[in-house]
Amino acid sequence: MKLAFFGAEGKVGQALVPVLERAGHSVRGIEIGDDVDVAGLDACVDFTTPTGAPANVRAALDQGVSCVVGTTGWDPTELGELARENGLRLFVAPNFSIGAVLMMRFAAQAAAYMPRAEIVELHNEAKQDAPSGTAAMTAKLIGGDVTIHSVRLPGLVAHQEVIFGSEGQLLTIRHDTTARESFADGVLLALSKLAELPAGLTTGLDALL
Ligand code: NAP
Repeated sequence: MKLAFFGAEGKVGQALVPVLERAGHSVRGIEIGDDVDVAGLDACVDFTTPTGAPANVRAALDQGVSCVVGTTGWDPTELGELARENGLRLFVAPNFSIGAVLMMRFAAQAAAYMPRAEIVELHNEAKQDAPSGTAAMTAKLIGGDVTIHSVRLPGLVAHQEVIFGSEGQLLTIRHDTTARESFADGVLLALSKLAELPAGLTTGLDALL
């Protein structure tokens, strides 16, 4: 596919662009301040910031290009509506790593039997939003009143523990992202399924598995 990648020079962008190219995609990197001229491309990928992503997505949708977005900390509902009106797809996932999606699934299963849970999410200090999109989605899947603890420190990539407690026992489900290349499989999957999705907003890698 012919792709534009918003945030190609960022930490995730630098890890993902070579993997997308090795998979046969042609990728044009677009940085902050660049002209957003994406007409004629097959899709845009965005890993930028919660303030940058909405404008990038709007520009892409206005030019007839569907989007795959990993940027967290923003609400894509309104742009999902624009995508639907334009007959385009907006796919947004708070976590593109398959292991993290499985962690969320297993947490939802455990919650049926152990409803008391808390989440500890740990990310690199540069991450702007807290709690993480993955933690927020996990809490929604578990249901009820789930406290989320956010840790931001150098040396971390992306990690999450879901701790379930009941009388006399604890269950911990943990996922660690140790390298940003782990997000590539999910992005490749989203790109391969993009054209099959209904027009408008689809959220979460779980919807594609
Ligand atoms: P990062 O290292 O700060 O990279 C962001 C990049 O985007 C930087 O190169 C930045 O340029 C650029 N940028 C900022 N605003 C832009 C704009 N309006 N248009 C184009 N480029 C712009 O951050 P990161 O760690 O790569 O993470 C990026 C986003 O992805 C964050 O929201 C993070 O939470 C999210 N994330 C999601 C997943 C997932 O699986 N869904 C995984 C990891 C991270 P400057 O440096 O010049 O500002």
